[in-house]
Amino acid sequence: MKLFDLTEKVALVTGGNGGIGLAMSKAIGEAGATVVIAGRNEEKNSQSIKKLESLNIKCKSLIVDVVDETSCNQLVDNVISDFGKLNILVNNAGTNIRKRPEEYDLDEWKGIIDTNLISMFTCSKASFKHFKDVGGGKIINIGSMHSLFGAPLGSAYSASKGGVVQLSRDMGVNLAKFNIRVNAICPGYAYTNLTTALTEDKEMEKKLIDLHPLGRLATGEDVAHAALFLASDESSFITGALLPVDGGYTAK
Ligand code: NDP
Repeated sequence: MKLFDLTEKVALVTGGNGGIGLAMSKAIGEAGATVVIAGRNEEKNSQSIKKLESLNIKCKSLIVDVVDETSCNQLVDNVISDFGKLNILVNNAGTNIRKRPEEYDLDEWKGIIDTNLISMFTCSKASFKHFKDVGGGKIINIGSMHSLFGAPLGSAYSASKGGVVQLSRDMGVNLAKFNIRVNAICPGYAYTNLTTALTEDKEMEKKLIDLHPLGRLATGEDVAHAALFLASDESSFITGALLPVDGGYTAK
């Protein structure tokens, strides 16, 4: 028996055009799924498609702005018209602005909540009918260590990522009767565009590494393998869960 087999499945990964999202798209595609990567940046989308195609992964990119409900609905409609079904949704798109709480403009603060949390509800809601049509589905929401801890400079990020875990629990419970499983992955710090400003500062990088008992930061592949597990039938009795992929950070 082949484990983690996603042959014939169709997966949609928001923010799949870079960083952790691209690593997850690759792992899910290598397991046999057709992968749709969705982001705002057309150039990043097409570069990522080239990488996936070079690995013989069936894939397509679509433009989306996840803060716009119409754009999310259109995205899911396009997946259905192109591929006829949707089995796996990875809500990964995310952003951050690092500031002290009192320094945020309200619009900035709300923008982070819109991108990191409300988009997950919007894309999940748009996908619901299509999951029902195929007898179930898997939703994987990307949280963070700051789903659990405060961040030194990121009150909106922490609030949004805390919400991601609660949204996953709630939807996990409520959608279980439709065989739709909803789980959250909470990665430790990883080297991506989101953290370049931190990891380029060698002193800060060392501080971040020291937070993780396994003595390094996460790779995209670390997160991707957890996503592959949650996307596959090997995790069929897991829903509403939060899975830290953090080198022991939360265990301390
Ligand atoms: P990146 O900045 O590399 O990726 C962020 C992705 O989100 C990009 O692909 C971007 O696409 C997309 N995105 C952002 N805003 C929008 C939007 N409005 N509409 C559509 N797409 C959008 O960072 P990561 O790979 O690190 O981040 C991926 C996820 O992992 C995020 O949810 C992040 O919070 C989470 N995470 C990251 C950690 C880390 O240390 N890096 C740790 C814990 C969690 P585009 O460029 O096209 O806009």
